[in-house]
Amino acid sequence: MRTLLRATVPSIAAAVALATPASAATPLELSANAAVRASTGPLVYVFVMDGADGDQYDKGRMPFIKKLVDKRGTYYAESRAIMVAETNPNHTAMITGAYADTSGIPANDFAMYGNGASTAEGCPLERRTQGPSTTGLAPACVQAQTIFQSTSTAGVRDKVTSAGIFGKPKLATLFAAKRSKKKYAADYLWTPCTGSPAPYCRKVPLNSFGYADDDATMDAVLKSVRKGVPTEKGKRKKANLTVVNLPTVDVTGHSYGAGKKYRKAIVRADEQIKRFVRQQKKLDLWSRTVMFVVSDHSMATNERKTSLTEIFTAAGIPSSSYLIVQNGGTDFVYLSDPNAADRNDQLRRMRQAAVSADPSFGIDEALYRDPNPLDGDAANTLDAVHPDWHLAGPRTGDLVVTQSDGGAFTDPVNPVAGGHGGPNTTDNLFTITGGWKGIAKNGTLAGQPGARFDDTALNPSQAENVDVAPTAMRLLGLEPPRDNKGRVLTEAFKGW
Ligand SMILES: [Zn+2]
Repeated sequence: MRTLLRATVPSIAAAVALATPASAATPLELSANAAVRASTGPLVYVFVMDGADGDQYDKGRMPFIKKLVDKRGTYYAESRAIMVAETNPNHTAMITGAYADTSGIPANDFAMYGNGASTAEGCPLERRTQGPSTTGLAPACVQAQTIFQSTSTAGVRDKVTSAGIFGKPKLATLFAAKRSKKKYAADYLWTPCTGSPAPYCRKVPLNSFGYADDDATMDAVLKSVRKGVPTEKGKRKKANLTVVNLPTVDVTGHSYGAGKKYRKAIVRADEQIKRFVRQQKKLDLWSRTVMFVVSDHSMATNERKTSLTEIFTAAGIPSSSYLIVQNGGTDFVYLSDPNAADRNDQLRRMRQAAVSADPSFGIDEALYRDPNPLDGDAANTLDAVHPDWHLAGPRTGDLVVTQSDGGAFTDPVNPVAGGHGGPNTTDNLFTITGGWKGIAKNGTLAGQPGARFDDTALNPSQAENVDVAPTAMRLLGLEPPRDNKGRVLTEAFKGW
């Protein structure tokens, strides 16, 4: 469904040709037009309100953003995060347009086999082992092309000045790919300094999770707009592509669950957007401003914590035969020996143990990455049951086990009060608004929620996080990044 829609989007080259009378379209004039666009075209800002549930928008806890959207913009009431519903895969989805099966980042934590080496495909492994080791946090782990990379190539670089302003240092790490020995693909990176300081970090207070709070992060955004960011040849320019992570809503949800304090944090995050808009207006930039105000995933109170290890042990499955990598409401299970002769039988036993566990454990589903001839062949695979998750990539667990509403895994230990990661937390926030006249006036676009929110086929006009990258690129007059699977959100703009 989504591929079909994407195929109907006219290419940028065709759009330019349509907009320019053939007789006047000399190469010189075209490039002059491009230069004018660069200084007057839209300024694109992606604000990720980490862990914000779209339902809170419905309940009136983002009054400022809602007022902007109702005046000029679109709120996708049934937008979706990608699975696994966590920070790293979803920021990667927004920034590359790729789902978890091709982005390289299927979850915050996943495992790879280094066969005794310290890295695998450029990903640093937690330990040297013949079996699986946890990994996930290095620029080289991201396999899909980011919008920082696609806009840093020769010929495009002059049109786009990019900034990544991340309250969570791990995101700056993930998107700190370089385009040359000395230069990052992003023109500007900002994140707070932590124990292992990066060259682009700034000294600001850290919260208990080691992140900057939203105030300090928005301060950095405001400064980047006022002063511009350093680019080629030492010149300062205003970024026209800025990606921002605001961590406080997420931190509050993890610390206290999705209750009163979480709701208050959302109201305060709404006020941060107000600070930004106020400055844009003051600087006379509002008429060029396009904002995506989105979240990477939503948040749920952990009413139940389940140890899958305990379930396997009770079924007589030795812990030496697998590695569980916990991702909140989703566990990735990897075989210690992926080439074992009894591989399919091992996985069959694990899946049976999970799905037949007492209902009090809250196991929702257990699905194979690859077909298992000993257990339904392809019938119980991720791709067969949830094709729109696009989760069955080479780095995904051999078996993926999910929790139903209110549950989280604790393998080995999960101390937080609230969390996400399971399908019940893919109902995120997704709005597009701003002062740019090209933004359509849709207000709220309603949809039809399906089981487990696995309903993108049911709602082809709703938005997913993978749609950020191609839509942001279209605003800048560029093609989507190389590995994009998202769609350009044409309905959110006039004349697209
Ligand atoms: Zn997050």
